[in-house]
Amino acid sequence: MLPKQISLFSFAFLLFWLSSSYVFAENEDSVYKERKALFQKMEALSQIPWYYFAAIDNYERNKKPSSEEEQVISVEFDEDSWYGIGNYTQNADIHIIKLFDGIGQDGNGDGIASLDEDEDIMYTLAMLLLDEGPTSDDIKVALWKHYKRDLTVKSIMNTARVFEKFNEINLTNRDFPVDINYNYSYRNTWGDRRGYGGLRIHEGTDIFADYGTPIKSTTYGVVEMMGWNRFGGWRIGIRDIYNIYHYYAHMSGFNEDIKVGTIVQPGDILGSVGSSGYGPPGTSGKFPPHLHYGMYKDDGYKEWSFDPYPYLRKWERMARNNR
Ligand SMILES: [Zn+2]
Repeated sequence: MLPKQISLFSFAFLLFWLSSSYVFAENEDSVYKERKALFQKMEALSQIPWYYFAAIDNYERNKKPSSEEEQVISVEFDEDSWYGIGNYTQNADIHIIKLFDGIGQDGNGDGIASLDEDEDIMYTLAMLLLDEGPTSDDIKVALWKHYKRDLTVKSIMNTARVFEKFNEINLTNRDFPVDINYNYSYRNTWGDRRGYGGLRIHEGTDIFADYGTPIKSTTYGVVEMMGWNRFGGWRIGIRDIYNIYHYYAHMSGFNEDIKVGTIVQPGDILGSVGSSGYGPPGTSGKFPPHLHYGMYKDDGYKEWSFDPYPYLRKWERMARNNR
């Protein structure tokens, strides 16, 4: 009797697990749809292309320590600038807000500028952007005035290009950085000590493979950096739409179609495995061929590295399932 009970229990559990993950996936899907519809509505109202709203919203979402995926939008305004200084009762009537020089706008036509209404918040953002104008250069200026940081402006503009190119914000597919049809091996080398160039901590995972094994982009993003680096040899840096920088080092060469500014998607060939680095340009063969893969997170103020190993394991499974 007991084994049957156990199997019944696990069957029920499996059903629960399947249905809950299904519901989660469906919710996730619908929040992307809801967001995109909102951004497109803002485009209709302001003539500013929807993907700029999407990119700014995405940037704000990923800046937060714990991003809430279910929340529709992540753009926020502080109460003082919204209602206006001196509007102590926080009267949300748009005429009163205007009287107090508040920035709050009414995006859904109810005469109220509410900090709880996504449409009001996004419309307010649209009107602030329109102060500069609707072109991509105008938006760049508006972003610079607000964030006062080159990397932030560049990241948002590049994310907007990715959304525009794929006409989609639900870009969750991933790939493994080394072609899984070739021989390769890796283990968790996060934090290992390194001798070259003074004592450094190993910030990444080394994936060992033969010379010439194709290296692929793991994510959607834009090539931010390319060329020789004393430690990394021939290396490429790609910033994804979550403001994460993916660093590929020790390559033997690059795919000639890839340049700084190129938009990439998971699976795009970046180049091939080599052993370049640890010296002046062209230095090679000082260690066995491998791809050094690093990930860096940026929160709008500073950048720090984190362990890519768990992600690599996950993307490896995704690559196998896609094969
Ligand atoms: Zn390494």
